[in-house]
Amino acid sequence: MKAVIFKGKNDISLMYAPEPRIEKADDVVIKVTTCSICGSDIHTKYIGNQDPGKIIGHEYCGIVVDTGAGVRGLKKGDRVAGRPAYSCGQCYYCRHRQQSLCVNGGIFGVLGTQGVQAEYARIPFAENTLVKIPDNMEDEDVIFAGDILSTGMSGLLKNDVGLGDTVSVFGAGPVGLCAVACAPLFGAGLVIAVDILDYRLDMAGRFGAVTVNASKEDPVKKIRELTNGIGVDAGIEAAGSEATITACIRSTRRGGKASILGLIDKPLLFDLRKRFYDMFTLTMGYGDQNHVEELINMIAHGRLSVRSIITHTFPLSEALNAYDVFEKREGGCIKVLLKP
Ligand SMILES: [Zn+2]
Ligand SMILES: [Zn+2]
Repeated sequence: MKAVIFKGKNDISLMYAPEPRIEKADDVVIKVTTCSICGSDIHTKYIGNQDPGKIIGHEYCGIVVDTGAGVRGLKKGDRVAGRPAYSCGQCYYCRHRQQSLCVNGGIFGVLGTQGVQAEYARIPFAENTLVKIPDNMEDEDVIFAGDILSTGMSGLLKNDVGLGDTVSVFGAGPVGLCAVACAPLFGAGLVIAVDILDYRLDMAGRFGAVTVNASKEDPVKKIRELTNGIGVDAGIEAAGSEATITACIRSTRRGGKASILGLIDKPLLFDLRKRFYDMFTLTMGYGDQNHVEELINMIAHGRLSVRSIITHTFPLSEALNAYDVFEKREGGCIKVLLKP
């Protein structure tokens, strides 16, 4: 089968790979119908922290084509959307609803099993990992529920956002836009999106945010102006740079909460002393995929849609071109789908 394969640092290729088979009783194999390219796939490509030969990708929908002997809740022909991480459901972390930390689990194409940018994929712990797609929904409606939508929403959950709260979102890429799109579900009042690309800010504006272009004005100063000098109740950082993390923390109010969702790939220097006396709460890390079913339910009932962030769709055979478009942000690119 065709698959997007990591060959070495800064070297990915579309190659043939063996088709996956059931290896354990709780596996299923899916025919991938849609997968997407994630910012973290670009990290994998450039940081090169991966074994050569690994299939990349962890955002996907598909159709079940084979099931292990222990699988009861899924059958051949079921349409499914997947979580990016698979987890056993039984270890200490899973029992504490922190499946992303599962000691028996992994992340498709990153840690453990092969990724999903391929024609077929093996899904471990399938009944924990997959969610059935309602008949009247398309892959495009639900593909982000497992990863970027769960992660974006986790910024609101970790910050305990409630009625009328003011929220900043630094980085209007896919995760940041998902956070902006989910903010009304929590009753947020003012939502301020910060980025340096106008076309991304325009999208944030369409999801209801007030926008600040950080290449044209100081976002910390602007956020203070917009919040009567106080700062926002909740800061969400979805870019992973020192500048955005620092600005996010600085523009969140005393006694407020900030959550770092952006992947950090360098050591950060930030003086937390002042925030200590401000009784500040800081959290970090991605979401725990506990609410994938709820998200799909909200999408099904018209409460939420992030389908508009899909700007490009390519056949899997054009995956390398798709990576180029995504990386270079060509043609107003936000999110790219691949169709095997
Ligand atoms: Zn992802
Ligand atoms: Zn576990």
